[in-house]
Amino acid sequence: MGKTPDFQAPALHTELFIDGQFVIGEGEAERVLNPATGEVIVKVPEASFEQIHKAVLGASRAFDSWSETTPMERSRLLLKVADAIEQRAEQFARLESLNCGKPYARALEDEIPAIVDCFRFFAGAARCMTGSVASEYLAGHTSMIRRDPVGVVGSIAPWNYPLMMAAWKCAPALAAGNTVVLKPSEQTPLTTLLLARVVADILPKGVFNVVCGRGPSVGQPLVEHPLVRMVSLTGDVSTGRKILQAATGTLKRTHLELGGKAPVLVFDDADIEAVVEGIRTFGYYNAGQDCTAACRLYAGAKVYDRLVADLSGAVKTIQMGTQDEAGAELGPLISDRQRDRVASFVERAQMVGHMEVTAGGKVRTGSGFFYEPTVIAGARQDDEIVRREVFGPVVSVTRFTDPEEAVTWANDSEYGLASSVWTQDVSRAFKVARKLQYGCTWINTHFMLVNEMPHGGMKASGYGKDMSMYALEDYTVARHVMLKL
Ligand code: NAD
Repeated sequence: MGKTPDFQAPALHTELFIDGQFVIGEGEAERVLNPATGEVIVKVPEASFEQIHKAVLGASRAFDSWSETTPMERSRLLLKVADAIEQRAEQFARLESLNCGKPYARALEDEIPAIVDCFRFFAGAARCMTGSVASEYLAGHTSMIRRDPVGVVGSIAPWNYPLMMAAWKCAPALAAGNTVVLKPSEQTPLTTLLLARVVADILPKGVFNVVCGRGPSVGQPLVEHPLVRMVSLTGDVSTGRKILQAATGTLKRTHLELGGKAPVLVFDDADIEAVVEGIRTFGYYNAGQDCTAACRLYAGAKVYDRLVADLSGAVKTIQMGTQDEAGAELGPLISDRQRDRVASFVERAQMVGHMEVTAGGKVRTGSGFFYEPTVIAGARQDDEIVRREVFGPVVSVTRFTDPEEAVTWANDSEYGLASSVWTQDVSRAFKVARKLQYGCTWINTHFMLVNEMPHGGMKASGYGKDMSMYALEDYTVARHVMLKL
């Protein structure tokens, strides 16, 4: 297998970005690994308590002037951020793929354009807020609605799409006039640190800050800081709970994007070829480390056997490989811990008599944290593999005979982020979409996101929307101003 010619080792930055200064973290150094080899790329010292405080103070001071800029001024600067990322697309993509293990082509062709577009979308959105009209709702008094920024936002990002999650959090927050202290995952800080380098030449001092480190030592003090007015997290459900608890002391606004276990309803009239092609992509993209991954299939009795056979055949053709291997579709998992966690789910499923692994099911030997793309057939509603988030390249298939029961099963989950319905009957598609308790329902597709539309969950998947005008609203407060005439 040949190497993609333009894959080179990218430049690494390890300094935090605090109140306009690049500084070495004073805390413990965290090892950042290449998941495709298990080797250490670099060590990034985490922020000390004092450095977190300094970042929040800087952001708080910067808020005074940043919140007074006009939407047009903020828009112009966010467009510059977008252009600067686009100009360094290859550098960002190389770094992201190195740190996450994902195929370089996917980072470059899928993620970076979406990230650039996110900044461009919010640059435009900042100038397009709408709301109630000013009027005399009480005789002799004029009322109007203001939408004002919240203040300093503490943003905490996960490791699966580090730069994209940073964009989803920072672009709407900054567009709305907030200032930001961003903490990337301790496992994947590299593209966020590069983003700080880019932003340093564009945004005023203190508007955007990056502090690196682990959840308990850096994330928690950030959440608890009294000058942080809002906390936004993308992460695990258990982390969401901890953040809610930590935020109670100062009664902060929270914005939580947590896990998922997306149901995929395949009815007997579905185009099975399209389903197989779709799930081969949407179930395994980013090695299944995606909260919207199409991982929980329910197949009508008439199509179940064909779907299992064709999907298993298709999944066996997915090409695993390191970031720079030409044709690689599926990279490693983020860590040995995550790989072992995925393996243990499959092992437990195999021990249950009625389930069968029809594709994959093994750790790939050799270096790196690879796990084979896997299909588990014969799963039932109460099985662990159907109920718990695996966050790896594992798809379960469950047979149904009663379509209503399938919808009940789909909703019978603590999660509520994403779902899809596959059928050629438009009326059924809309009826089922209406009943599904998920933040998003796709029809005859899955996984497709656009910056104009909201992304966010229900139930334990959290609340608060990323992308779209709804995100801009989430990062602002509606205020009433009344004048006695
Ligand atoms: P995680 O919850 O372990 O970590 C997320 C972030 O929270 C990291 O930066 C981590 O350092 C920080 N953190 C951990 N403990 C903390 C604490 N006590 N206080 C403050 N911060 C803390 O999640 P992860 O393993 O990085 O990411 C995977 C999870 O994220 C999955 O469960 C996935 O479903 C979820 N996710 C959700 C979405 C969504 O949009 N809903 C998107 C991507 C990932």
